[in-house]
Amino acid sequence: CGIIGIISTRESKRLAELVVSCLNRLEYRGYDSVGVASLSDTVLEVRKAKGTVEEVIKKKNIKEMSGYAFLGHTRWATHGPPTDYNAHPHTDCGNSIAVIHNGTIRNFKELKDELQTLGHKFKSETDTEVIPHLIEEYMKRGMESFQAFKSAIRTIQGSYAVLAIIKGERRIFFAKRDNPLVIGLGDDKTFIASDIPSFLPYTRKVIVIADGEIGYVTPNNVYIEDENGNPVDVISRIKIIDW
Ligand code: GLU
Repeated sequence: CGIIGIISTRESKRLAELVVSCLNRLEYRGYDSVGVASLSDTVLEVRKAKGTVEEVIKKKNIKEMSGYAFLGHTRWATHGPPTDYNAHPHTDCGNSIAVIHNGTIRNFKELKDELQTLGHKFKSETDTEVIPHLIEEYMKRGMESFQAFKSAIRTIQGSYAVLAIIKGERRIFFAKRDNPLVIGLGDDKTFIASDIPSFLPYTRKVIVIADGEIGYVTPNNVYIEDENGNPVDVISRIKIIDW
């Protein structure tokens, strides 16, 4: 299973091709389904299905997708069988939040019951789907998007590498615990993925995210908070890959 996020200063279809190229390099990690989300000024779109990267890219015309931010996911099913609707990304009721996740959420059943009581309608059997609904719920209660993302992450228990995009936001939000997550700094774009090889053809400037860290990336900036909510000195964390 693997995840990739790319955010660029400019909206283009070329980003969809970049995501596909990164997904191809994540294939070796094993998976049963594939999905991509794209975000432009006006549209948040999700295309996903069970199958190989090659099959899903073709069947869903992934290369036709356009936007300034993209998420790509290969799923290794742990909660809910490998089906089209259990594939990631997962969205909230309003279809304005898309989330991809590697790992497992231990307390998802309680959270799902609670969210359903609050009126949230679920579209999959995955543990992951509680995340977009939690973010939506916290935003509905008046929280700003990063605050809502952080509150959602603090509410879930388990292992995760999580990426989220939200309509109207020029950032990709991330959180990590017990699943790998690495940032790649490009010239006019930022990558964030399960491993370095997935984006290595495009940048060698990386930041390895530590357990418990949470933050967001923009096309030319990175913001990270440690487990206690203190901002991390990002510059001192940049490494140049020489392999
Ligand atoms: N637990 C999630 C699911 O079953 C994520 C699986 C993964 O790591 O790919 O959908």
